[in-house]
Amino acid sequence: MTDGYMFDIPSVPALRIAGDERLFPVRRIFCVGRNYAEHAAEMGGEVDPEAPFYFTKSAFSLCSGGAEISYPSGTENCHYEMEFVVAIGGKLEEPAASGAMNAVFGYGCGIDLTRRDLQSDAKEKRRPWDLGKDFENSAVVGPLTPARGFGEIANQRITLRHNGEVVQNAALSDMVWPVPEIMAHLSGFYRLMPGDMIMTGTPAGVGPIRRGSVLEGAIDGLEPVLLKIKQ
Ligand code: MN
Repeated sequence: MTDGYMFDIPSVPALRIAGDERLFPVRRIFCVGRNYAEHAAEMGGEVDPEAPFYFTKSAFSLCSGGAEISYPSGTENCHYEMEFVVAIGGKLEEPAASGAMNAVFGYGCGIDLTRRDLQSDAKEKRRPWDLGKDFENSAVVGPLTPARGFGEIANQRITLRHNGEVVQNAALSDMVWPVPEIMAHLSGFYRLMPGDMIMTGTPAGVGPIRRGSVLEGAIDGLEPVLLKIKQ
């Protein structure tokens, strides 16, 4: 029991870092919607030319890559969404349109698990997306790679295999809102701090997981993210 608190403080959600013994403690998870035009189209939507938009996942929705999890509860149609993840390691004192990238620690491969049936219902009823997006194990992220080891974000391939079949395949340069623009925009609304993360949206090809599914997400230059769904 931790002194002064009525129950044990939950352990801090954290991610492994490639080539580093230390863990990256996760604070907040911001997610970008509709950041690849072909994905926006497959969902029956359009890219907003004005600005990116966001939803959030609790840090307690984090799932480290390599896990085997149960099929999520409350859904009959849970989808995978492969994403490039940005991990913030520096403070941004003020909205910092120019210097925002200096706060980036590194990058990772992520899968935004989505209860599509609940998200679609929420969209229809003009309700928030929380039930569809923010649930246990819904933010699956592999080990982080420091930005200096990754280099510039350019046309690296981002792919997802579902049971061995390539279902998502795009380039990071296909993002409607590049990472520096997301960082600059988001920092105008939140004081970004070390431990904050951004899931930058998914390319086309999203689809349902099943009991027994094996997901393997890869981005050139990063550690892959792996996930198994129990039978
Ligand atoms: Mn997503």
